[in-house]
Amino acid sequence: MSTFQAPKGTYDLTPPRSAKFLAVREAISAPLRDSGYGYIETPGFEDVNLFARGVGESTDIVSKEMYAFETRGGDKLALRPEGTASVLRAALEANLHKAGNLPVKLWYSGSYYRYERPQAGRYRHFSQVGAEAIGAEDPALDAELIILADQAYRSLGLTEFRILLNSLGDKECRPAYREVLQDFLRDLDLDEETRRRIEINPLRVLDDKRADVQKQLVGAPMLRDHLCDACKAYHEEVRVLLTAAGVVYEDDEKLVRGLDYYTRTTFEFVHDGLGSQSAVGGGGRYDGLSEMIGGPALPSVGWALGVDRTVLALEAEGIELPIPAATSVYAVPLGEEARRVLFGVVTQLRREGVAADFAFGGRGLKGAMKSANRSGARFTIVAGERDLAEGNVQLKDMESGEQEAVALADVTGTIRGKLSASDG
Ligand code: AMP
Repeated sequence: MSTFQAPKGTYDLTPPRSAKFLAVREAISAPLRDSGYGYIETPGFEDVNLFARGVGESTDIVSKEMYAFETRGGDKLALRPEGTASVLRAALEANLHKAGNLPVKLWYSGSYYRYERPQAGRYRHFSQVGAEAIGAEDPALDAELIILADQAYRSLGLTEFRILLNSLGDKECRPAYREVLQDFLRDLDLDEETRRRIEINPLRVLDDKRADVQKQLVGAPMLRDHLCDACKAYHEEVRVLLTAAGVVYEDDEKLVRGLDYYTRTTFEFVHDGLGSQSAVGGGGRYDGLSEMIGGPALPSVGWALGVDRTVLALEAEGIELPIPAATSVYAVPLGEEARRVLFGVVTQLRREGVAADFAFGGRGLKGAMKSANRSGARFTIVAGERDLAEGNVQLKDMESGEQEAVALADVTGTIRGKLSASDG
């Protein structure tokens, strides 16, 4: 019979590498949890129209990459391709915005699905940690989020990332700019699909990566020169706050991003060691999204950082995260009686909060000691018939190699003492 494989564009997280993913999720969420963001979890699928309306019908994410399906009951659903629309939907549904405490600050962590052409750093199932601050228009909030993402990456030891920053204007100034840009783009020599994009989402054309397109875009009208005074002042304040916080960023007037809901502040974190899929995270302000999905006006800002690409960025920089060994004590019984006794010791250690493991499967001493080594345990307990007859076990310090007999009755206390001494 043939064996099964993970579906195309997906991969499994298995030990030991999977520990990095947990550490990255922890590192990204820690600054958020310390900054008033509460944890939110939403379903892996939603009404397909939430994304069609929220993310935008014309975006690649919705028009080409969504896993949309109809249930047996006739509901039209889609696996979530991103987090923001779902989180806002859930916050509105729970009336979090009416609790009188704006902004509502939320963080999340989960799996997302896009039917993309798989390549290094681009998968059909990937993982993000995200943050949303809902219901406040305040440049300090935009700055806070960028600063917290920067802090998260730095806490992981990453240094080869850059922050790209732009403003997309608002409903006052963007429509006028859009027309000016369309007039410019319509005169260029472009393929059919790009010509269609000019009519639907002209800003995205600026983001085209092809050299022949970029050449024609020299001299294109830039939004920066068409921002209204309110957007200009807002953007300037975000920049001032970032600079005051010592966060280095680059102004990137061509940064548009692939989702329709952004207004004003947009930003992307790119890593220079990742090749073509260099964006490790991104986000921005989405003042109109709530109304687009049927809610009240709730100006908001958020980001999502990709866990998969952050792990790749760590690997590209050669950063080994200090992941502590999962096991502190490993027990190796020699004989049936010892099995029962040491299994009891391991159970007791675990109940006392010491990470302990056991040589299962009745292997010989040599194989069991190999497993003890591999587990990273600081101490090994070995006991055979003679030790037990004397009321002892052998406690081996795996760092120094020293071994001593310890009374069975004292073994958990002795180990705890030694572990806390070596912690200090
Ligand atoms: P986006 O919503 O497209 O701005 O994505 C935010 C972040 O999620 C990106 O910067 C990536 O780190 C990550 N991401 C998005 N799509 C994928 C994908 N197909 N595979 C892996 N990571 C992704």
